[in-house]
Amino acid sequence: MLETLRRIVQIVASSDSFRESLDVLVHEVRAALGTEVCSIYLLNKEKDRFLFAANEGLNTDAVGKLELGLNQGLVALVAERAEPINLDNATVHPRFHLVPEIGEEAFHAFLGVPVIHRRQVLGVLVVQQRERRRFDESEEAFLVTLSAQLATGIAHAEATGDVDKILKGDADSGLARQDVLYRGVGGAPGISLGTAVVVHPAADLDAVSEKMTDDVTLELQVLDRAVESVRGDIGRISEQFAESLPPEELALFDVYLHMLDDNALAGDIRGRIRKGYWAQGALKQVIREHVRRFEEMEDPYLRERGADVKDLGLRVLGYLQDIRAKKTHFPDDTILVGAEVTPGMLANIPADKLKGIVSIQGSVSSHVAILAQALDIPAVMGAVDLPIINMDNEPLIVDGYYGEVFCNPSPGQIAHYQDLIEEEREFSEELEELRDVPGITLDGVRIGLWVNIGLTGDVSRSLDRGAEGIGLFRTEVPFMTKDRFPSEEEQRAIYREHMEAFEPKPVTMRTLDIGGDKALSYFPIHEDNPFLGWRGIRVTLDHPEIFMVQARAMLKANAGLQGMLRIMLPMISSLSEVEEAKRLIERAFAEVREEGFDVKKPLVGVMVEVPAAVYQSRQLAKMVDFLAVGSNDLTQYMLAVDRNNPRVADLYKDYHPAVLNALLEVSKSASAENIKVGICGELAGTPVGAVLLLAMGYHVLSMNATNLPKVKWVIRNLRRSDARRMLAKVLRMGTAEEIQTFMHKQLVEAGLGRVVPTHHE
Ligand code: PEP
Ligand code: MG
Repeated sequence: MLETLRRIVQIVASSDSFRESLDVLVHEVRAALGTEVCSIYLLNKEKDRFLFAANEGLNTDAVGKLELGLNQGLVALVAERAEPINLDNATVHPRFHLVPEIGEEAFHAFLGVPVIHRRQVLGVLVVQQRERRRFDESEEAFLVTLSAQLATGIAHAEATGDVDKILKGDADSGLARQDVLYRGVGGAPGISLGTAVVVHPAADLDAVSEKMTDDVTLELQVLDRAVESVRGDIGRISEQFAESLPPEELALFDVYLHMLDDNALAGDIRGRIRKGYWAQGALKQVIREHVRRFEEMEDPYLRERGADVKDLGLRVLGYLQDIRAKKTHFPDDTILVGAEVTPGMLANIPADKLKGIVSIQGSVSSHVAILAQALDIPAVMGAVDLPIINMDNEPLIVDGYYGEVFCNPSPGQIAHYQDLIEEEREFSEELEELRDVPGITLDGVRIGLWVNIGLTGDVSRSLDRGAEGIGLFRTEVPFMTKDRFPSEEEQRAIYREHMEAFEPKPVTMRTLDIGGDKALSYFPIHEDNPFLGWRGIRVTLDHPEIFMVQARAMLKANAGLQGMLRIMLPMISSLSEVEEAKRLIERAFAEVREEGFDVKKPLVGVMVEVPAAVYQSRQLAKMVDFLAVGSNDLTQYMLAVDRNNPRVADLYKDYHPAVLNALLEVSKSASAENIKVGICGELAGTPVGAVLLLAMGYHVLSMNATNLPKVKWVIRNLRRSDARRMLAKVLRMGTAEEIQTFMHKQLVEAGLGRVVPTHHE
């Protein structure tokens, strides 16, 4: 059964169009279950009706025409109950609804299962048989499993407009729709208009688009170069193994070389290019067809050859993409779009051309989102339904406030968003005047507004925005850009540069926080649950040599400066880790002093980013000079929501009452022990977060430079007594949504509405 299931899912997924995938689906299910009828009905939400979308076994003339109302017949009942209905004689069921034109009356046995994606019914899959019998348990389970697997594909087709085309009967018209909206979550605030440039992970055939080219000759040349390179590779591998492999195995390399001949794959690909497809798309089509042919073969040996064809295809694609990457042209209004946009991908684009980022993977606290915030580039993350395959060169609007992407915007939509961009620009010009004034409330409460850096190293931007210190220096970044651990001197030089630029302001250096989603190419960590694994302080205490070199570099970098050095420990989950780390820092201090450096004792602090640390914050506070909440991780661990997983991104809520209570608890502990408490998660850079944290008694809010002026404006236009009044109400609320709505309203009423986006209902 599993094999059949897998095969059907694969065949459906590799269909050329959504129309074809529906037809293939009903055909394959009918064959697999040996039933006489299989149909799929799709829900038309606009009309509140089900469309008879594909069928085998009934009158197929009605496909695409017949519609059923929301309470008409058993199909509607399956959707209404959102569960399977399995009947031996459907015709006697009170909800049976006879539609004479499809010829259903002869079929008694009925099994219908809903197709559900994210709690929404998208359609119903039905099998029917003449004979009066109940479908057995395994058949029902098979259909339920299949439908659950297909739901994502149908939801995707719905988002891309393919379902709509079928529902409206223009499956082949290919009309470009305007203002098509894709939802994700806001990754970095702001709005931008631009042109999509799609970046792909290396060599993934499924991700290749089948676009047309204007330059057939060029595409043919590119193909020739790629095929020649692959031939060269195979020749070299074959020579390498000439001694060690038996001749019959070596012959396999010749087979590969033949497959690349003009009368085999290469010739077919060339043919497609001549029809107008670009080389990568032509390659994709040809490889897919060949693989499918092999996979349908009975003989297991021949079936396996499909994998060889695919492997060859990927090798050729690798070269095609390489050649292309060197030639990629970035328009002046580039919006980078990708399945998983990574910080590394940004490095290839000239900074002045990057205007927006859209990623299918990731959420607001993914590191690429944090980087986008620091660069002041609007970003949308977790846009899971985005059809990136066809998006190259598409005009887009990216709304980083609401996590929305509009494809092919209409002139009206463009004008609306241009006005909003203009308003934003005027506001940020006004905010520039606040650069040199302190973060102080109307009732005279002073709060430190510091910056998080490391991802960009953009010190001058932070100072331009009026940062009063560095609240988080992510030291892993200089480690990520090397191909080995940086030496003590290399680290010292980088740290020193930042400290000198901020002198005499305080600088908080976090010890190396690798693991989780931050990998070092030269120190790979493979784990099933990396966020619950060997991460942050756990790694560096297991490798005191790494910790010591870093601590010494930090101390030396601070030598002779007035600015206070604060060393901060990430991912602390027990008191003993703090004890050990403090011991190492003391040792490093003694050593550096002995070497003759003029260093002063650093302050040592703990990051509270694991729930255990919240509940031990009082004891931790007794051991250190300051506490700093890492709310990005704390939220992830408190709510058990992976900060990079778009499927659960809507459960990742900064204003969740449990998170806010934890934040309050930490602040109380710090105040009871009379030490400073700060926060360096993204929450600190949101106007609502800043108001609540001010009310809770946080001394330092550390955020990306982009958000700092807005937060300062809010702080300077508010009384802490009012913030406390708001917090008291918030702490009695039960959900993040309620809190967010309430706080937005409060800010608007306090005359601070400019910082809460309201351009959208
Ligand atoms: C945090 O977890 O909130 C934090 C500031 O650290 P990072 O985002 O680097 O994990
Ligand atoms: Mg963290």
